[in-house]
Order: sequence, then C-alpha cells, then structure tokens
Amino acid sequence: MIDLHCHLDLYDNPKEVIKRSNELGIFVLSVTTTPSAFEITERLSSSCSRIRTAIGLHPQIAHERHTELEIFRSLVSKARYVGEVGLDGSKDFARFSSIQQIVFEDILAATQASGGKIISVHSRSAASQVVSTIKKFPSAGIPIFHWFSGNQAELREAIDIGAWFSVNPLMLMSKKGKELVRLMPINRVLTETDGPFTRNKSEPFYPWEASLAHPLLSQIWGVPEGEVIAQLLSNLKELTSASL
Ligand code: MN
Repeated sequence: MIDLHCHLDLYDNPKEVIKRSNELGIFVLSVTTTPSAFEITERLSSSCSRIRTAIGLHPQIAHERHTELEIFRSLVSKARYVGEVGLDGSKDFARFSSIQQIVFEDILAATQASGGKIISVHSRSAASQVVSTIKKFPSAGIPIFHWFSGNQAELREAIDIGAWFSVNPLMLMSKKGKELVRLMPINRVLTETDGPFTRNKSEPFYPWEASLAHPLLSQIWGVPEGEVIAQLLSNLKELTSASL
C-alpha cells in the first residue's frame, strides 16, 4: 500500500500512526509544511525503512514562512524528497500569489542545484502557473501533482512536462476527479491520503486508508483490484529507482 502524500507530523498521535503504518509495511511519503519541521519529522520515523520524509514549505503559509527559505537551502541536500511545495490561487490565498511565486521559484532553484528531487506539488487553483514555473527549472526533478484539481487542459499541460500524480479516495469519489484520473497516464499514478487534512466522516484519513482508492481505480481503469495494486507498486518502483 502506498500513501505518497501524508502529513504524519500533524496527526494528534503521530507516533501511533507511524507505528501502525510501519507494522503494515505501507510506503509513506511524509511531507512537511515548513523547512524547520523537516529534521524533527524525519527523526519520528527514522527506524521505519518504508517511511520517507520530504522537506517542504506549503504555499498556504509561504507569506508567513518565507524566512525559512534559508533553512530549506541548507537542508535540501539531505533530502531525497521535496514537498509540500507549490502555489495556491484559491480565494483565501490568491492575495499572497507574489510571495508564493518567489518562494516556489527559490525552492525549485535550490532543488535543481542539489541535483533534482522527487517533488510533491500542491497546485490548487494554480495548475497552469505551477506548470509554467516548473518548466523554468527543468532539472529540479520529478514533480508529482498531489490531488490535482485543475481542468482537463491544465492536466494535459502537466502530463506534457512529465508530471506524475498522487490521487486520494476523496478525489476519486467526485465526478470531476474521476474524469481527471481517467486521463492520467496509468504508469504515472500513485495513491495518497493527504491526512490528516482530509476527513473520512469525523476521523482524519490514515495512511492505511489509501487502499480505499483501489476499488475506485479498478472501476476507472477497468481492471481487477489485484492489477491496480500491482500497477501502483510497479509505478512506485519506477519512481524510486529514478537517479535523483
Ligand atoms: Mn497536503
């Protein structure tokens, strides 16, 4: 099972969630929202070989945390994964778009300078802008658009730059999300939960609930669930064997 975008450090009980994820052998990409959270979050799961930690600076707090870019630059060489980073053009954050843009470009420049990384990208209401920004840094690594919610033209732009996609159960339950996933290259799709920000009724989604995406992907791809799981594992292997 794969949860390629999860905020392990933000659960009420991170140690329990990490312990259970580890016992279940889930591959988790533990993304962070600030560079200063990277080292402490990485230490939380240092004994778990299938949990990896990404260094990030979430676009929704770029206006408050741009001062941490220096920390990002000093730590990025220690990380193989970058995230959560990107742009957010939705109603509450559009007014911070210029600082978000500066922060995202700085992050991509530092990521490129350190040889390229696997990057978990937020692109809510800003998909085209995210694509054109990534194009400026062609050696920054492999972008994985997490919870892609742009339109179909924007999706094609992302596919054209070689982007990957992590999709979550909530996205797969919506008609729009299903249509988008249908258009994604099957060999560039992985699962995620975005927990604890996503909620399954009253509880946050946990990494082991990434498997709720399997029956939905089975319908969309028209293959049995066993083949979905095999495809996802093969995709993960391909991604993690990239020479970054
Ligand atoms: Mn997230």
